[in-house]
Amino acid sequence: MPEGVIFDIKRYAIHDGPGIRTTIFFKGCPLHCPWCHNPEGIKMERELIFWEDRCISCGDCVEVCPTGAISMNGKFPEIDANKCDLCGECLKVCHPEAIEIVGRKYTVEEVMQEIERDLIFYDESGGGVTFSGGEPLMQLNFLLEILKKCRERYIHIALDTTGYTGKEALDRVSEFVDLFLYDIKLMDNKKHRTLTGVPNEPILENLRYLSKKGKKINVRFPVIPGINDDRKNLEETARFIASLPEIEYVSLLPYHNSWINKFKRLDRPWKPYLVATPGEEKMEEIKHKFEKYGLRVKIGG
Ligand code: SF4
Ligand code: SF4
Repeated sequence: MPEGVIFDIKRYAIHDGPGIRTTIFFKGCPLHCPWCHNPEGIKMERELIFWEDRCISCGDCVEVCPTGAISMNGKFPEIDANKCDLCGECLKVCHPEAIEIVGRKYTVEEVMQEIERDLIFYDESGGGVTFSGGEPLMQLNFLLEILKKCRERYIHIALDTTGYTGKEALDRVSEFVDLFLYDIKLMDNKKHRTLTGVPNEPILENLRYLSKKGKKINVRFPVIPGINDDRKNLEETARFIASLPEIEYVSLLPYHNSWINKFKRLDRPWKPYLVATPGEEKMEEIKHKFEKYGLRVKIGG
């Protein structure tokens, strides 16, 4: 049985598909969007995360680190990721839990145990399980084993995907998936490639492919001021979605800049221009724009 790396399991989720759900976050993503609200899901490997606001500057982590990866830089420890082998010794002495290792290996059985804990809530609310990330399709064999088991237990399955994958992977999972939560970010291919690291053609093509197959799809569009909320991009996005044969509805997800702190904790570069958040009025305006194309639209997940 394959194993996979998961960085979070959220129970009682209500924004990741219908009803009450358990959302499983897979580590690893082919895109590296600077506005990502789960930057700890981008790298496939496990990694350290440091919470400055929890640190009491005791320096105990420096003392125990066997590789010399930690040094005090003024008030706070500085961790050299190149020297860290993720042994976990610093976590054991850090009582305020200011250091964490993000990502844990799971077996299929372990994931199923987590999912099955809330079967009663799925049944009562019309919920189920949502696979998110990161990009779950990056760990295809692991995902497929879990999907098969969920199907055997009649659990509703949603897959939150970037759509950046091959058709073969989509074909293999689509027989099990009840609902695709499919992200679209930018229609300009050059801008998409510059900002996310990959072209948008396969993403748009795969969405068209799934839609033609009659799959149930909820398109998710993150509204990021200054990046994708210009009139041209909004209209091209709405026109493209409206041209597809089968789309349940579109979710407009307002960008929230509190996610920037996660980038800082992971010692990742973040873009200082990503500070504005769209207000309610702006979100309503975009909703009306999309609705003019005959789409069913809601604000939020
Ligand atoms: S052990 Fe924890 S609280 Fe103490 S300096 Fe290290 S990170 Fe901060
Ligand atoms: S996980 Fe181990 S190697 Fe990495 S910083 Fe902590 S003690 Fe050092």
